[in-house]
Amino acid sequence: MNAAVLPLPEPPSRRADPRIAQREQGKLAKRLRRQVGQAIADFGMIEAGDKVMVCLSGGKDSYTMLDILLQLQRKAPVPFELVAVNLDQKQPGFPEHVLPDYLRALGVPFHIIEQDTYSVVSRVIPEGKTMCSLCSRLRRGALYAYAAEHGFTKIALGHHRDDLVATFFLNLFHHAKLSGMPPKLLSDDGRHVVIRPLAYVRESDILEYAAAKAFPIIPCNLCGSQENLQRKQVGLMMQQWERESPGRIETIARALGDIRPSQLSDPKLFDFLALGHREGAARADAHAWLAGEPHATGDDDTP
Ligand code: SF4
Repeated sequence: MNAAVLPLPEPPSRRADPRIAQREQGKLAKRLRRQVGQAIADFGMIEAGDKVMVCLSGGKDSYTMLDILLQLQRKAPVPFELVAVNLDQKQPGFPEHVLPDYLRALGVPFHIIEQDTYSVVSRVIPEGKTMCSLCSRLRRGALYAYAAEHGFTKIALGHHRDDLVATFFLNLFHHAKLSGMPPKLLSDDGRHVVIRPLAYVRESDILEYAAAKAFPIIPCNLCGSQENLQRKQVGLMMQQWERESPGRIETIARALGDIRPSQLSDPKLFDFLALGHREGAARADAHAWLAGEPHATGDDDTP
């Protein structure tokens, strides 16, 4: 298995006049800091005294998250701790030295958890099937356990705006649910607060930033797993939309933060029964209505 670090495409700005390129990179970094700062403020992601576990996979997203959080930490109005944590899943060809070398050079506190989830996943999942779902669950378990043992108050994941939108469509198309990937959530066992500081950041900006910063990217697919087909289809759909109608993904992302329960159809979120209900009138009896039973509601005065 190839252990090489994935080369990122050279950003167009690098090929231009170096002064212009530098200015463009400065603007991009400023935009990312502003968007991450805004998400932190909007969702109360980080507070004074927080110990934040920054999950670093070696992909462009998590490198960008760590880089921007470190920049913000220097100027933040409140003190908080950042610790980079990577899970070495023992994939064949995983270049073990890349992350420690990078983090040591940066002077960031870090820890590498070693847990052979790769063997478990490759034993359980039949050959040729996608392993990502089980792999992610095991990875989450290992990271959450480490966070609990070491007193982390927040767990930061590198999902970005496009991940949030893609998850929304996956749930819509395949699970008949209007739900997505929230910028902040409580883990199912109620023990961890998970934050996604890149929730407002476009993937294309991350790609450009990661290339400009020359992060030593480690590909996720060293394991040889195929990407989940449904996720791939949604990704292609989003790319096509963006090509045909630039800005559409941003519009959808904004809509995820502007929800009108009264304009949807979920009686658990909005009290439709109370709308136009007359004081003292009996409530509808669903069973009787479905059976076509007369006098079902009790307010029918036909003889
Ligand atoms: S590509 Fe491999 S390492 Fe990455 S999530 Fe999927 S199974 Fe896990």
